[in-house]
Amino acid sequence: MELNPKIPAGPLEKKWDTHRFELKLVNPANKRRYTVLVVGSGLAGASAAATLGELGYQVRCFCFQDSPRRAHSIAAQGGINAAKNYQNDGDSIYRLFYDTIKGGDFRAREANVYRLAQVSVNIIDQCVAQGVPFAREYGGLLANRSFGGAQVSRTFYARGQTGQQLLLGAYQALTRQMAAGSVRMFPRTEMLDLIVVDGRARGIVTRNLVTGEIETHLGDAVVMATGGYGNVFYLSTNAKGSNVTATFRAWKRGAAFANPCYTQIHPTCIPVSGEYQSKLTLMSESLRNDGRVWVPRAAGDRRAPGDIPESERDYYLERKYPSFGNLCPRDIASRAAKEVCDEGRGVGETGLGVYLDFADAIGRVGESKIRERYGNLFEMYERITGEDPYRVPMRIFPAVHYTMGGLWVDYNLMSTIPGLFVLGEANFSDHGANRLGASALMQGLADGYFIIPNTIGDYLARMRPGIPDAGHVDIRATEAAVRERVSRLLAVNGSRPVDAFHRELGKIMWDGCGMARNAEGLRGALERIPALREEFWRNVRVGGAGEEFNQALERAGRVADYLEFAELMCVDALHREESCGGHFRTEHQTADGEAMRDDERFTYAAAWEYAGQGRPPVLHREPLVFESVQLATRSYK
Ligand SMILES: Cc1cc2nc3c(=O)[nH]c(=O)nc-3n(C[C@H](O)[C@H](O)[C@H](O)COP(=O)(O)OP(=O)(O)OC[C@H]3O[C@@H](n4cnc5c(N)ncnc54)[C@H](O)[C@@H]3O)c2cc1C
Repeated sequence: MELNPKIPAGPLEKKWDTHRFELKLVNPANKRRYTVLVVGSGLAGASAAATLGELGYQVRCFCFQDSPRRAHSIAAQGGINAAKNYQNDGDSIYRLFYDTIKGGDFRAREANVYRLAQVSVNIIDQCVAQGVPFAREYGGLLANRSFGGAQVSRTFYARGQTGQQLLLGAYQALTRQMAAGSVRMFPRTEMLDLIVVDGRARGIVTRNLVTGEIETHLGDAVVMATGGYGNVFYLSTNAKGSNVTATFRAWKRGAAFANPCYTQIHPTCIPVSGEYQSKLTLMSESLRNDGRVWVPRAAGDRRAPGDIPESERDYYLERKYPSFGNLCPRDIASRAAKEVCDEGRGVGETGLGVYLDFADAIGRVGESKIRERYGNLFEMYERITGEDPYRVPMRIFPAVHYTMGGLWVDYNLMSTIPGLFVLGEANFSDHGANRLGASALMQGLADGYFIIPNTIGDYLARMRPGIPDAGHVDIRATEAAVRERVSRLLAVNGSRPVDAFHRELGKIMWDGCGMARNAEGLRGALERIPALREEFWRNVRVGGAGEEFNQALERAGRVADYLEFAELMCVDALHREESCGGHFRTEHQTADGEAMRDDERFTYAAAWEYAGQGRPPVLHREPLVFESVQLATRSYK
């Protein structure tokens, strides 16, 4: 397998423009002769499908929800970054680029990140033109707030519902193309395999989630925008349906998987409340603009927060990181929360929580202003916990939130399988070892609206349009493999529910490959996962039939993939003997508990190749070359 990132030559600021000029174009009249399959209609997929449809390609778009509007992207709360510098506070494309590279702990590709920062400004214009109701200042300019890892205000938002509003914008662009006939939408349709013919991605095999019918869809290229895999941990802030199946199946067909161990643990989630919980709720990072994080100074202090005087509180983020304070990046804030809880200073019944306190902000700007900024988030918190955050501080704790790893892609967003492009959270491209807040929406929309429409043309222009013959042996074999797998899941007929396996896997992963990892824990996880997988295939209870609506079957397929994929994550985490961003190896830390990178040995993206059933995956390294920034130890002090 060859990893050629195809980074254009020339100065960083010119690379994208030069590259766009050099990319081949498809004649407008020829575009309708090419069929592009877009899997996923979250922000990345919907923006891509709409734009490709508008350009004139024949697009088929797939999602497992009943409507693109229900993609996980709708959950995004806090905002989307862009280097508009409306605040005149010193922002620039270079600063957004630098913050993102540094935030990712120098484990992302410079050229991609710079392009992301460049394109960020276009995204806002595009969304405003669509009518996305971003918050505005009194004078009419779009408002901004701050997010972690930045000292400027560059986050555009629509209250705490930014993802929903952006998705409605993309969705209306998509429905316009559906009405025009250029996009055909396939909701409630799950991709279960990738079809590769003569070394190129030429189609997908799907299961209709309502009727159970297995179908084959063929085209000239496949674009996957299937989101992240945080649910491997069972408990996460992701939508319950988010899964790894599409990317994992593509991995088995030859697409390299990069940095699978890079997981983001978000510091501000509502703490776990009991054994039977199946979902965690995020409290947006935007709350750290006004909320102050603290715990009692003394271990075991069980007094109500209001009874603890100022002098006996520890605002530990402000103390440890005076320049960024409560707005230090997520990986750092999460680890700091874990540290104070490990010291016995955590709050709430379980001791696994810290306070996020708005008393100062309410005193400073008034309750109505805070209500205006975060009203729906406060309401959500109160509904879940029964506590009124206007009166008592919120209790928060870190939880799995985002996965920086994903299918490896080159500068054109093409995977190691020619014709398979990967966008949004599903690829590994821009966030290195830690994603900064409000930059996932930016990346998903950059990929979908602005990058893929250019780069896919270059690929298609080099091949003749045409659908492969459905009788091709590779197509038939892939379809047969899907049918066989579905039958195998149904045939187990065991006694343990799918969810029980998922919950146990999640616990193994959280303990062994979670917020802090070490060789011993990872080796332990690598022993327990195959044993659990073996039990799954012997004893899982699915029930029902294949040719009908069967949610247990859907879940079983996804959990079966997680049971294999989890191993890949642990292998990656074990091999990376350094700490960087969200990957914190306890063996590699400074005296004051900060992540210690090993730039000599690990300044690369780890891209893993599937080597066949039962064989260890093969590691390929893409060296990360930094020409514009200097590798430095991250400091937010
Ligand atoms: C609670 C929460 C709040 C967040 N807030 C922010 C924020 O404020 N700012 C920010 O930048 N980021 C935020 N994020 C992160 C951000 O929302 C996601 O990273 C981003 O929306 C992912 O978009 P996507 O298009 O890549 O994937 P998704 O939105 O997850 O869409 C995936 C699509 O793929 C489809 N799909 C998946 N598998 C298959 C399959 N096998 N077959 C067919 N279809 C499939 C799904 O149906 C769906 O349409 C937040 C995340 C969470 C969990």
